[in-house]
Amino acid sequence: MKISEQLLQKYAELMVRTGANVQPGQIVQLAVSVEQYEFAAMVIEACYKAGAKKVNVDWLSDVQSRLNFQYAEQEVLARVLPWEEEKMKQMVEDLPVRIYIESDDPDAMNGIDPGKITAVAQSRTKVLKPYRNAIDGKYQWLIAAYPSEKWAKKCFPDSPDALDRLWDAVLRTVRVQQDNDPVAEWKKHTDFIEKKAAWLNAQGFSSLKYHSDNGTDFTVSLIPEARWEGAGATNPVNQVFYIPNMPTEEIFTSPMAGACEGTLVAVKPLSWNSQLIEDFSITFEQGKAVSCKAAKGQKLLEQMLQMDEGAAMLGEVALVPKESPVNQCGFLFYNTLFDENACCHCAVGMGFKEVLPGGDDLTVEQAKEKGINDSLIHVDFMIGADDLSIDGIRPDGTSEPIFRNGTWA
Ligand code: ZN
Repeated sequence: MKISEQLLQKYAELMVRTGANVQPGQIVQLAVSVEQYEFAAMVIEACYKAGAKKVNVDWLSDVQSRLNFQYAEQEVLARVLPWEEEKMKQMVEDLPVRIYIESDDPDAMNGIDPGKITAVAQSRTKVLKPYRNAIDGKYQWLIAAYPSEKWAKKCFPDSPDALDRLWDAVLRTVRVQQDNDPVAEWKKHTDFIEKKAAWLNAQGFSSLKYHSDNGTDFTVSLIPEARWEGAGATNPVNQVFYIPNMPTEEIFTSPMAGACEGTLVAVKPLSWNSQLIEDFSITFEQGKAVSCKAAKGQKLLEQMLQMDEGAAMLGEVALVPKESPVNQCGFLFYNTLFDENACCHCAVGMGFKEVLPGGDDLTVEQAKEKGINDSLIHVDFMIGADDLSIDGIRPDGTSEPIFRNGTWA
């Protein structure tokens, strides 16, 4: 790998200082693949240099996960052990900063029964969800990526320099270059997103209307008091500004759960539970997915939409212009962190209560009453066709073009 240590250092520091924005005295919970132990050391050191009190590491391995699913019984994998629960209880108390570095092989779970994976996720999440709800919105977090050989091979199967190409793309999308100041670049970028979000919030749209020649014809109602957000968030516990996703290009909100009509046609494959769903569409009636069609992964898509009641309803609508650096890379990353930042998307499943005023203090039940969807899952899928138009409709019936031909009108 030709990538210089200096560039990696820049990236690690960007994650810690600008992304997660680790503050003196904070505990950090880092999740990273065992394969990236050298980069993990850079991140750990950057955390300590930022003043972290302690850095805990969850070492991940998609090879190990695969072997578990291949050989261990479903009931065994589905059980949350007492120590795992104790760990979550500790997190509720400590509210550590969480940094998650992705480098998974998109094909890691190929051939594993998707029913087994969803069943295991379902029972584990049932036990862990109360803890997740208790910390939700109260801590700084960051998801970023570190390319692995297998991930690169998936993106560029025939290329001898696949890893270099993936690195090049990743560093471009996170605005880390040899001769630039990534911190200044991110400031400019987040300012632009905040300006667009402020415009949307000032319009008071009550619904959005989507149209594209590929068959997308869709209307979704918005929650009157819900806000459009993007790029950064503020930890309400300590008022620290952080950027939870690197890269990030989207401006998003949670729509009114159970209030949408029509069909959304995906423009990119979806990688869910490490398996692919391709060429698909979802049709909604009275806010719920009533049918879906997929050229590949039909059963998986059906299972996904049936995970629970909320899995068939929308939790997010997001605007991303087609000129986004991720889209300009021109290939599929097979990873939602990147692919969701390529173009406009929606997500089925859990919504974001933080988009409501005072939302951080609402319980899941209270947020649900206001229209924020609740589910064990949150899955983004891309609908930003090159000709996509989106109109914002106000309560008095007047409308305003938001997107034309896949970008800001
Ligand atoms: Zn999104």
